[in-house]
Amino acid sequence: MKNLSSYKNLEFASLKKIKAAQNLLLKAHLNYCRKNSPFYRKLFKEKNVDLKKINLDNLAAIPLTGKADIEKYNDALLAVPAEKIEDIVLSSGTCGQPTKISYNAWDLNRLAYNEKQSFAACGLTAQDRVLLTCTMDRCFVAGLAYYLGIRAIGAAAIRNGLNSLESHLGLIKRLKPTAIIGVPSFIRKLGLFLNQQGYPAAKSGVRKIICIGEPLRDKNLKFLKVGEDLEKIWKAKAYSTYSSSEIVSTFCECTAQSGGHLHPELAIAEIVDDQNRVLPAGKIGELVVTPLQIQAMPLVRFKTGDISFLIEQPCPCGRKSMRLGSILGRKKQMMKVQGTTFYPQAIYSCLETIKGINEYYIQASSAGTLSDNIEIYTCVDDPACTQALIQQKLQAYLRVTPKVFICDEQLIKERVYTAGSRKPVRFIDQR
Ligand SMILES: [Zn+2]
Repeated sequence: MKNLSSYKNLEFASLKKIKAAQNLLLKAHLNYCRKNSPFYRKLFKEKNVDLKKINLDNLAAIPLTGKADIEKYNDALLAVPAEKIEDIVLSSGTCGQPTKISYNAWDLNRLAYNEKQSFAACGLTAQDRVLLTCTMDRCFVAGLAYYLGIRAIGAAAIRNGLNSLESHLGLIKRLKPTAIIGVPSFIRKLGLFLNQQGYPAAKSGVRKIICIGEPLRDKNLKFLKVGEDLEKIWKAKAYSTYSSSEIVSTFCECTAQSGGHLHPELAIAEIVDDQNRVLPAGKIGELVVTPLQIQAMPLVRFKTGDISFLIEQPCPCGRKSMRLGSILGRKKQMMKVQGTTFYPQAIYSCLETIKGINEYYIQASSAGTLSDNIEIYTCVDDPACTQALIQQKLQAYLRVTPKVFICDEQLIKERVYTAGSRKPVRFIDQR
C-alpha cells in the first residue's frame, strides 16, 4: 500500500481522476480481501464474483456485508495474524453484545490520516488547541481517532473527555481552547453553563465546534435548532462529522458547511433502498461504505444502518469528492404511523423548535404489524407550551399526531441521561 499522504489532494482533482484512482484502490482492496480475508475469499467463490470485472460501476455484483455478519464471522473477517492487532474497538451490536473491530498499526496510521484530512477541511491548523469532550477509553474509537487526528495536524489536544461542566469550565479558562469536539447537545449545555457562571461562551475564544453523534442539519442541510444554538451561544462555527468503528472513514464538513466530504482514497460510498438496490445521488436510503486501504478487518459494501443521501455536485470549497448529507435516522428506528414512515430524528427536529420544551424522549411500541404506537414525553418551563400546542406542531411537521405527555422534569431526565451512555437517550424502542 502506497504512502497515504501521496493522495492528500485527490479530493480536489477532477471527477475523472478521482474515479480512476478509486478504481485502482478498489481493485487492490478486493484482491487483498480475497488473499487475506477467509470470509471474503469464501463469499467471492460462493457467489462466483469475478474480481477482474468489478469496478465502481458494477460494485453491486458483490453482496452487502451487515453488522450481523461481523458478529457471526468475526474471526473469518480478520485478515492479519492475531499478533499484529494493535487496538480492539467495541461498537454497538445488533443484540446486546458489542461487536469487535480490530485494527493493526497500518489501520491506526490510516485513522490518523483520515482525521487529519477531515480536520483540515473544516479549517483546524497546528495553531489550534482542541478540547476533547468525548472519551478516549471504554473501547470506543471516536476519542482515539480525534486524538490521533489532532496530533497528525500538529494541533494541541486537551483530553478532558466525559468530565463535568465545572471541570470543562476550569480548563477553558486556563488552557483557552480554540476548538471543541463532542456531542452537540452537550456542547450547547456547556455553553449555557459558561454563560450562567459569568464566563460568556462567546468570549471564550472557541471558534470551531466539531460535532459528533447527533445530526446538526435537516434533509435540506439547514441547521437544526441545536446547530443554530451552538453558533449563537459560542459565536463559533459548527461542523458535523460522521463515522463508525467499522468504516474507519470519516465524512466531515468543510468550511462551506454543506455536507460531509468523503475522502475518496479511503472509502467508496453508496446509498441503497430496502431491496438493496443502489440509488442515485440525492435519493434517501441506507448508507453503504467500502472502506479502502484497510488491513486488519477489511470490509466490502458494509451496511451502516444509517439513513442519508449523497451529494455529487462539486463543493464551493473546491473539493470535488462526493459529500454525505445529514444523517436522517437509523434504519431500524424507522416508525410507521397511519401509512407515514419517519425516524425519531424528525420528531427531535420538530420538538427542538418548540419554545418552552426543556427535555423529551420518544417511546415506540407496536400497534400491529403495519403500525407503531408513538408516545412523546416532555417537560416544559413555559405554561404556554401546552400538550395541544405540541401536538399541533407535530401534526404540521409530520402529518401524524403522536400522543404527548407533559411530565415532571426529574422523571424525564432520569430516562434521558442514563449512566454509561455516551449521549442522551431520547428514543426508547419497545417494538
Ligand atoms: Zn467542501
